[in-house]
Amino acid sequence: MRAMVLDRPKQPLQLRAVPKPKPDRGQLLVRVNACAVCRTDLHVVAGELPDPKLPLILGHQVVGRVEQIGKDAPSNFAIGDRVGIPWLGWTDGDCAYCRSGRENLCDNALFTGYTIAGGYADFTVADARYCFHLPDRYDDVQVAPLLCAGLIGYRSYRKTGGAQHLGIYGFGNAAHLIAQIALYEGRELFVFTRPGDNATQENARQLGAVWAGGSDEMPPKRLDAAIIFASVGPLVPAALRGLAKGGAVVCGGIHMTDIPSFPYADLWEERVITSVANLTRRDGDDFFAIAPRVPVRTHTETFLLEEANTALDRFRAGKLNGAPVLVVNRAAPSEVAAMDLNSRESSGER
Ligand SMILES: [Zn+2]
Ligand SMILES: [Zn+2]
Repeated sequence: MRAMVLDRPKQPLQLRAVPKPKPDRGQLLVRVNACAVCRTDLHVVAGELPDPKLPLILGHQVVGRVEQIGKDAPSNFAIGDRVGIPWLGWTDGDCAYCRSGRENLCDNALFTGYTIAGGYADFTVADARYCFHLPDRYDDVQVAPLLCAGLIGYRSYRKTGGAQHLGIYGFGNAAHLIAQIALYEGRELFVFTRPGDNATQENARQLGAVWAGGSDEMPPKRLDAAIIFASVGPLVPAALRGLAKGGAVVCGGIHMTDIPSFPYADLWEERVITSVANLTRRDGDDFFAIAPRVPVRTHTETFLLEEANTALDRFRAGKLNGAPVLVVNRAAPSEVAAMDLNSRESSGER
């Protein structure tokens, strides 16, 4: 099968023919139709995350069809079913974190496209227990970015509790998805972009933000919570300064530059800084229940599998008009008919 392989960090991925994987006990063999590219992939390629499996097939927003089912796999998937494979690939189910409902923090967790092989390939295998059924409303390309930007964004959003005045720093893919849910739930949204990025600020206002400005500005109201999706450490004290008493800054990314020091007075009055790590299967179930109700819409820009380096380069350079998605295998004829219907429906709604 074809795969885009990372031999070592800071090198381009290599298009290579590698053996098709075989499903182990409890695993599904999945024919990959689409795989979205995540900012985390950039961090892995840049060597900013420790100890990736090498050589590595990246990709943890994988949408495909079940081709074969390994021994003893749970019966929640049948051959031919559509399946979504997320970042959380496996946990031990046994450590203190797993036993307390925090499998996202599992001591021995394995992560798709990082410590186990992911979806930048014609086929992949995944533990069936961590795979999701995906809402029918979305075609394969539309649904792919929901698998990480959506899920981990949603976990970040849930960490803001009932925040009425909600700030979002960095208005990329995750922010765009989560903003739609926040507005659906009646939150007032304050969006911060790079200073002077008027186009993105205008996008945010059009989506329904009550205010959009530069990250060097203070919001017009004190915020109950702010989510930071940009990997820029100095945004943490900046966001903290805009919080109401008891407010929280939630860092939604896996990697961030160093956070500069700030006066204790900015943290005083029970303000909180926290981060979000990974996801639980519960996050996925909750998110895929609410996303089609909103409905959360995705904007995507597609690339072929062998164009993965181009997708990564353009992502890094901020030159994309939507979430990048690799179209890996063209869908089978029966699936194409269904996708055509879906895309007609969604374009009519825009
Ligand atoms: Zn565990
Ligand atoms: Zn991701």
